[in-house]
Amino acid sequence: MVSRVIPVEDFDLVIFGGTGDLARRKILPGLFRRFIAEQMPATSRIIGAARADMDRAAYQTLVRDAIAEFGGDEKEDTAGLEVFLAQLDYVAIDAMGDKGWDTLAGMMRDNVVKAFYFSVAPSLFGDLAERLHRFKIATAESRIVVEKPFGRDLESAKALNATLAAHFNEDQIYRIDHYLGKETVQNLMAVRFGNVLFEPLWNNHYVDHIQITVAETVGVGGRGAYYDKSGAMRDMVQNHLMQLLCLIAMEPPSQFGADAVRDEKLKVIRALEPVAPHHIVRGQYDANADGPSYREDASNPKSFTESFVAIKCHIANWRWTGVPFYLRTGKRMKSRVSEITVVFKDLGHSIFGDDGATHRNILSIRLQPNEGMDLQVTIKEPGPGGMRLIDVPLDMTFADALGDDAADVADAYERLIMDVIRGNQTLFMRGDEVEAAWAWTDPLIAGWEARHDVPKTYDAGSNGPEDALLLMHRDNRKWRDIKG
Ligand code: NAP
Repeated sequence: MVSRVIPVEDFDLVIFGGTGDLARRKILPGLFRRFIAEQMPATSRIIGAARADMDRAAYQTLVRDAIAEFGGDEKEDTAGLEVFLAQLDYVAIDAMGDKGWDTLAGMMRDNVVKAFYFSVAPSLFGDLAERLHRFKIATAESRIVVEKPFGRDLESAKALNATLAAHFNEDQIYRIDHYLGKETVQNLMAVRFGNVLFEPLWNNHYVDHIQITVAETVGVGGRGAYYDKSGAMRDMVQNHLMQLLCLIAMEPPSQFGADAVRDEKLKVIRALEPVAPHHIVRGQYDANADGPSYREDASNPKSFTESFVAIKCHIANWRWTGVPFYLRTGKRMKSRVSEITVVFKDLGHSIFGDDGATHRNILSIRLQPNEGMDLQVTIKEPGPGGMRLIDVPLDMTFADALGDDAADVADAYERLIMDVIRGNQTLFMRGDEVEAAWAWTDPLIAGWEARHDVPKTYDAGSNGPEDALLLMHRDNRKWRDIKG
């Protein structure tokens, strides 16, 4: 099977912050991979923009080094790399001053897609948006791409939305949540809405509960000072876990179109019930032989910020009433795992006696590692000795099922950038979605701040704090083991 790669239209992409960490680690290597996959037209151009004075050759060297470090197997294609580098340009520009803007205006071509990636601090978004207009660089068809964090609460998210809306229409704004670019996340929609098997079971008649886990093994390390002002709730739950929750819980949209999908996601967020304090567990990792504690990493011995959070929440609608959704995410955990698990209810009646009653169907959707899905089904244990039942996984690891095609799939950033060029907003967050997510998140944070809640300590390399396990045990349920 050969993957179909549909080339995008010719484009000029300006990366503000084109020398920064995100550009070097993700955006530029991702573009290079799409170039090698022949998805980028040979005439398209990428213009790095930052304050540092450097010429085009110096920028090409910076990008060459970034690809050598983060480029994956494609970097072996040295001839391809040279052609890619020839498509790069650079402009020294200050978002907060007028330096460089006339030069950039002179570099842009007419009659191609124009996209502007704001890979800079959100405090610069307003300056960039305003100057793109004042210097007549952006047009009504231009697109802007903005990164997380999109605000730190409802008020700041509203202010950011208003800043962007002063210069761009909503259909020009692409808010990135790279979780939505992951292959499995889109596959989740294909599985739910492309098969007759699952949708009839996807409700409170058949689903016992749903778990969403995003566990990381890394600590907050070098970004401790930034993270300490944010915490797991703002950094992960409000955006990534919320998006996964939406996709697993939303009603079928009438079509796979940007607004149809986003309307349904918004309804889920708006239907989320407030969360009782005893349904929230926050934690901080402790020091071990492999690394310092959270408080040491954050250089804040009295920090109350959570590096782990687990939440039991409910969606108040006909489909999901009575079905708990358990969310958890944390740093310095046992393995790096992102997984959604749908645990179906027990059989109404088992013809196999007690043995049959103890087996359950479980659908698990892995975002990483080994992207794929498996469905636990109950079968007869082979061999003589009567009717004994065992659970076996119907495994659909994409790498096994799809062979080389799975290896070829674009990573989240690549896919999302190509979607920007195509003008497809389906996998980007709309402004009202982001605000609704903050409207649910803010009272939870305000609640634990008012209670002076102290996060529980957990062992680095573990499943998180004991209390998070109890959150499930109290309901006679248990978390899936975090195994990579
Ligand atoms: P970074 O490494 O600090 O890079 C910032 C970039 O912005 C540099 O290229 C810098 O170059 C440029 N810049 C700073 N001030 C500027 C100004 N006044 N005018 C023009 N350019 C300016 O930051 P980053 O980690 O790449 O993050 C960029 C954005 O992505 C942030 O909003 C961050 O929250 C978000 N993000 C990053 C990651 C990640 O993994 N790094 C992940 C998710 C989201 P000069 O100093 O030369 O101007």
